[in-house]
Amino acid sequence: PMVVSVALLCALPALARDQIDKSVDVKVDALLAKMTLQEKIGQLHQLSGREATGPESAKRASQLAEIETGNVGSMLNVKGAQDTRAMQALALKSRLKIPLLFGLDVIHGYKTVFPVPLGEAASWDLEAIERSAQVAAREASAAGLHWTFAPMVDIGRDPRWGRVMEGAGEDTYLGAQIARARVKGFQGARLGSTDRIMATAKHFAAYGAAIAGRDYNAVDMSLQQLYEVYLPPFKAAADAGVATFMNSFNSLNGVPATGSALLQRDILKGAWKYPGFVVSDWASIKEMVPHGYAADEADAAVKALNAGSDMDMEGEVYIAHLAQAVKAGKVPQKNVDDAVRRILRKKFEMGLFDDPYRFSDPKREQVVLADPQHRAAARDVARKSLVLLKNERNVLPLAKSGRRIAVIGPLADSKRDLEGGWVVSDVRGDVVTLLQGIRGQAPGAQVSYAAACAPGCANADGFAAAVDAAAKADVIVLAVGETWDMSGEAKSRTDIGLPGRQTELFQRLKATGKPVVAVLFAGRPMIFNEIADQADAILYAWFPGSEGGNAVADVLFGDYNPSGKLPATFPRNLGQIPITYAQTMTGRPVVDEKNIVYRSAYIDSPNTPRYAFGHGKSYTEFGYSGLRLDKATLRQGESATLSFELENKGKVAGTEIAQLYVRDMVASIVRPVKELKGFAKVQLQPGERRRVTFTIDPDTLSFFNGQLKWGAEPGAFKLMVGSASDDIRLDTTLQLQ
Ligand code: BGC
Repeated sequence: PMVVSVALLCALPALARDQIDKSVDVKVDALLAKMTLQEKIGQLHQLSGREATGPESAKRASQLAEIETGNVGSMLNVKGAQDTRAMQALALKSRLKIPLLFGLDVIHGYKTVFPVPLGEAASWDLEAIERSAQVAAREASAAGLHWTFAPMVDIGRDPRWGRVMEGAGEDTYLGAQIARARVKGFQGARLGSTDRIMATAKHFAAYGAAIAGRDYNAVDMSLQQLYEVYLPPFKAAADAGVATFMNSFNSLNGVPATGSALLQRDILKGAWKYPGFVVSDWASIKEMVPHGYAADEADAAVKALNAGSDMDMEGEVYIAHLAQAVKAGKVPQKNVDDAVRRILRKKFEMGLFDDPYRFSDPKREQVVLADPQHRAAARDVARKSLVLLKNERNVLPLAKSGRRIAVIGPLADSKRDLEGGWVVSDVRGDVVTLLQGIRGQAPGAQVSYAAACAPGCANADGFAAAVDAAAKADVIVLAVGETWDMSGEAKSRTDIGLPGRQTELFQRLKATGKPVVAVLFAGRPMIFNEIADQADAILYAWFPGSEGGNAVADVLFGDYNPSGKLPATFPRNLGQIPITYAQTMTGRPVVDEKNIVYRSAYIDSPNTPRYAFGHGKSYTEFGYSGLRLDKATLRQGESATLSFELENKGKVAGTEIAQLYVRDMVASIVRPVKELKGFAKVQLQPGERRRVTFTIDPDTLSFFNGQLKWGAEPGAFKLMVGSASDDIRLDTTLQLQ
């Protein structure tokens, strides 16, 4: 009886899923059979709602008429229960009454602003990240939205590229885990619940590898690299059931991703059997004309649809040219039908044919957007995302009373800069600044404040007053960094140092002889060598969101022991870029300092970064010991268990993110010296020890070989456990037969 019931438990949900899928397909086919070619093409057209929901204009009137005719399948940039209801009502006047899908860039929060995605990635906390996406979905869904254009799962290994801010950093394994968590958070277990929304895995593919870090630039990459480094987070999102994919602006090996049948038809819809739909990036279909890949907009429409781009975001080229192209035989009817089917299926799964207004409820919108638990969730993940880079002589944590604290810097009392880019401008909630956070949490301290300069820090007029305030204090908290609009889309920089005169400000303050705690805000890894060398403590805060000031204060005063670890390498200088911990060996490695002639090195800089991937300090110390591997030899297909003992050797409770790295010593393709293959986030009381276990399964040892086949090759593997990619504490060797 035991066996039977277990078998039933496993079989039932799968059975139910199949039935639901089939019943949706039946409905989709029935609807498709009633549609004219024009109505089908309407479903592929996504319109931006800025004009349609704006003031009276000729353009507005014509767009409203298009919606009413059934020439629009989806809208972006319409939000709020009221506006989405109004637009939906128009669509329901069309002949077949097919409801609209409403999408928006809900990247790190809707009303409650969470840390920028790169910041959240530094938490390595899959539950907190999932919760963040869930809260964003709850707020957005209450505002009538069905769909977010997130998560961005592009691997980013070039900090000049401003959009590293929107991703999970440089690492494929961490990126894939986070992609899955975000999809689960946005969508829930299954589409259709009114407090979740559809997610989008973007930008497919390799958008983060733009040459020289310049946004939208071409990408030229081996298929090996594409499969191994850039695609796995997309595959993880697809496996997690992500409802849609977005293609990308870049060309990949000469073909714009939007027109790439290799990416969209062969890999995504072919090899991966992906059932969702692909939306283009903003006007990316017609941008194939300036790329030099399509002769004109009509040609671009043909190439994109045939390559598998299902929905045209704001390009208006499908609606303008596809009907003619089908009639001329340039686009097979079955390609149009496939695209329409994929889109209709999502509308059914979201329950919109049952009730097209089910997400647009003004009462729910009011209640949900005021939920105080959302702020608590934002504070939780914000403090988990903070990375303590340096803490000399235990300057931190600061005492809450009896001390004079000078809070200085252009970002100390800035609300806008703590939010970062991609916020929903007219709905987002209030922000707690760092100054407010410090004052609120240390009422017993004497806190003085001087901005010293405006964000951007173009002039030094306020420096003297800041130095005066610093001289009267016991400790200086300096808040500097990028302004919110220096990272994000189209925000590539050739200089990723501290903008303006902020380094000079730091030096003037340091000259007072008072300890300086630097809190750095940014959407990317920056280069800040003077601060790295001379500050007493450094806390990297990214753009921490609505609760940022409270979260940073929690760490400064020790109410939260920092646990974040860098999800990206911090270079020493621009010349090192691109730089990653997962590099491969050359035939001329740096073996020792004497071998200076032929080594693969620079004559003016070490190869090592300023801060390595995985680095992040705590107010306590962790000990690693007792490494055990349950079998030293493994047969193909088997798993092994690696475990070690982690100990909190300090005086305060703390959380360590222990990392597992693997190196395949000799293989048919040269393997990276280290690849992250597991991590464990472990909370320990002072003196507490715990055995931590990693499973080494066939996937842990596998890679794409020269034929792009996934598998593990026999031989020796080095298994490494440590506190950062450059701080390996224990290692051993495993043989695969
Ligand atoms: C961006 C996308 C975004 C879209 C819609 C594009 O410019 O690349 O990431 O989802 O705009 O706003």
